[in-house]
Amino acid sequence: MEYKPIVGLEIHVELNTKSKMFCSCRNNPNARIPNSEICPICLGHPGTLPVINKEAIKKTIKTGLALNCQIPEYSKFDRKNYFYPDLPKGYQISQLYQPLCKNGYLEIGARKIRIREVHLEEDVGRLIHEKNYSLVDFNRAGIPLMELVTEPDITSAKEARNFAEELQLILRYLNVSAADMEKGEMRVEVNISLINRESNSRIFANKLEIDSRVLGTKVEIKNLNSFKAVERAIDYEIKRQTKILNSGKKVIQETRGWDDIRGVTVSQREKEYAQDYRYFPEPDLPPLHFEKEEIEKIRAEIPELPQQKRERFKREYNLDEKSIEVFVQNKDLGEYFEKVISELPPKIPKNQFPRLIKLASNYLITDLQGLLKGTSVAEKEFLITPENFAQFVALIADGKISSKIAKIVLEEMFKTGADPSHIIEEKGLSLITDEKEIEKIIQEVVSENQKAVSDFKNGKETALQFLIGQVMRKSQGKVNPEVARSLLTKILKESK
Ligand SMILES: [Zn+2]
Repeated sequence: MEYKPIVGLEIHVELNTKSKMFCSCRNNPNARIPNSEICPICLGHPGTLPVINKEAIKKTIKTGLALNCQIPEYSKFDRKNYFYPDLPKGYQISQLYQPLCKNGYLEIGARKIRIREVHLEEDVGRLIHEKNYSLVDFNRAGIPLMELVTEPDITSAKEARNFAEELQLILRYLNVSAADMEKGEMRVEVNISLINRESNSRIFANKLEIDSRVLGTKVEIKNLNSFKAVERAIDYEIKRQTKILNSGKKVIQETRGWDDIRGVTVSQREKEYAQDYRYFPEPDLPPLHFEKEEIEKIRAEIPELPQQKRERFKREYNLDEKSIEVFVQNKDLGEYFEKVISELPPKIPKNQFPRLIKLASNYLITDLQGLLKGTSVAEKEFLITPENFAQFVALIADGKISSKIAKIVLEEMFKTGADPSHIIEEKGLSLITDEKEIEKIIQEVVSENQKAVSDFKNGKETALQFLIGQVMRKSQGKVNPEVARSLLTKILKESK
């Protein structure tokens, strides 16, 4: 039988605030020495009192607004009680009843994935397991941790991955988190259940959508530290649960961990429920109240988001989807591209612009990225000004340098930051425009390649391409290939 997967995601994100959530310790994800960024508050010593980090609240609300959430007027923190070695307080301050943001959505392609809520809590310490003992590092304890919970709207492994990737991009655009999954700054957990495709849709066709979902048994998957792992784990779980259901057995509600090396999920423990944590309102913190103006002020700070940028780049520059995606994913390069376009020489006729835009985009994406080798144009070691890059593009468009010469010029610009005309002049790289000089080169090529010449005269078109190549080689790329073609054709025809 065929089953339909119903997937929901819970995503934890460490916010990049200066200090921790409830104390003034540094929020330093790169701390080298264990237990160096700690104080009595984040260690949960008796008698200490937490103070709310305003920046963390602001960053969470900003994220919620970017994800189309409502921001309730009131919010508060709750205590989630449990015992664990990485949690010396015996409880974690979190939000259960009145989260900061709720009822949002994120569009992935044509589908709208609803977001139930985005709330704020504190991260716990990190356990380091050795052979015969375990160590605990509390540097991470108390770092603001934002948790986003989706509705079970996701219907495939690929879609779950796309959601997580787009979310990461948004978090980076908002500058609320570096959201690096390998560093644990963004952690994805998956809830997955299978429902019978036919019977449920028949029985529950006129009921609430959610009715059909309670039939599936929910399995939670943890330890997913890459996008690929998210996708693979869901695909694996679909297969595992389908096999169980087809053999007439029941899927157990539990938490499973992902073993990336073996490519399987393994049972960890039975799933806890909210009541197991005996949540109650955090008595040490005041409830929060937000004025409309405060929220609108945060909304006004939201920059252009990835999807808006995709649409604008299509509209303004008419680039192909692949190029647009490079500029959206690589925000610095996208911004640099726009600066280059704005620096194109004003004397260029408007109808030439589409061609120049395309040229600029291609040279940035292929040649420049090749030279950058993963470094960013935003770093101060990067020397090419947008003005010089625009001039470089104009020189190619004008036919002043060939694509072969362009590579040499760009490399030199990258090394020294010099302007392209200067490089061309200094290195004698400008194209030979004197027809007599070009003809001389062609005559030499013709006399040295009699076989190709007769091949061409016998109708072999590829021979012409070979001869053009020889002209380019002899001139060290300093002849415009189009000029070479027309002069060569003329000379060959005259010599018949
Ligand atoms: Zn502290």
